[in-house]
Amino acid sequence: MTEVLTGATVRKWIEKTAEVMAENRSYLTELDSAIGDADHGNNMDRGYKVVVEKLPEGDDIGALLKAVSMALISKVGAAAGSLYGTMFLQASKPLIGKSEIGFEETAQFFDDVVAGVKLRGKSDVGPCPSRRQAASTARTRRSAPMRSASWMRSMR
Ligand SMILES: [Mg+2]
Repeated sequence: MTEVLTGATVRKWIEKTAEVMAENRSYLTELDSAIGDADHGNNMDRGYKVVVEKLPEGDDIGALLKAVSMALISKVGAAAGSLYGTMFLQASKPLIGKSEIGFEETAQFFDDVVAGVKLRGKSDVGPCPSRRQAASTARTRRSAPMRSASWMRSMR
């Protein structure tokens, strides 16, 4: 049995992320108010609304991820737009023209997410929970194919 991640599933992830950003806009802004200028929830919600509007037709996974990158860079702005935009841009590059990917490319996707954050954030995997999670997910995808198959089914 071959498990694959399809462009349709990636589109659903992106649309679901937009819903989660909208639902948690106030909470993200509340968290940002403790350390920043209290605009993160509003910025991410605004960015993801544009992401959904700008998603291209079709099931090209790289094109979908690149569209996320471009929308976040142009609409979120500041450090978060640049960080998330670079992350999605890095991860999109090897996937341009692909409408489905298997375990190895899915693991590579998470490696590229980590690489994109490192590149823009000038940091390494360490205390940041999101970087640790992405790095851990990449390792799991490679080391546990059965768990990966279950995970890929759960993402549909
Ligand atoms: Mg801010």
